[in-house]
Amino acid sequence: MPNELTLSIIKPDAVSKKLIGTIIKRFEEEKIKIAAMRMKRLTKPEAEGFYAEHKGKPFFDSLVSFMTSGPVVLMVLQGDNVILKNRDIMGATNPANADEGTLRKLFAESIEKNAVHGSDSPKSAEREVSYFFKKEELVNL
Ligand code: ADP
Ligand code: MG
Repeated sequence: MPNELTLSIIKPDAVSKKLIGTIIKRFEEEKIKIAAMRMKRLTKPEAEGFYAEHKGKPFFDSLVSFMTSGPVVLMVLQGDNVILKNRDIMGATNPANADEGTLRKLFAESIEKNAVHGSDSPKSAEREVSYFFKKEELVNL
């Protein structure tokens, strides 16, 4: 779809490895617009709510603990087909399965500490963008 929005998160592992600039540079090189951006340390309830679809899975508690372990960068990315485009740039959840050159292949250290988040569908993008950002926070690009 033209002119989509999607939520991107630079996760605590990538922030602590000083990869913020490298990851943002990649989005800019791929002609993706950044419509909003904020650094934040997620609270436990925020992380639990964000990942509610995974509640009850064996990795849930560890995932919440990881996502609250340090600051993250929250971004709204904007562009034509940006939801799928961002997922392609990220690569597979497990870096062992991620294609060469993807952010997760390059920077993830495990299936959990995998550097970046990206919304996986128009429905999740809408929920996730509004989970962290008000409409007024998006710049008019
Ligand atoms: P994605 O982030 O690629 O959309 P999922 O929505 O399936 O992947 O999972 C959300 C996040 O939970 C992953 O990015 C990863 O950090 C973590 N995760 C997923 N599967 C596992 C697993 N089997 N073991 C540990 N952590 C996992
Ligand atoms: Mg997902």
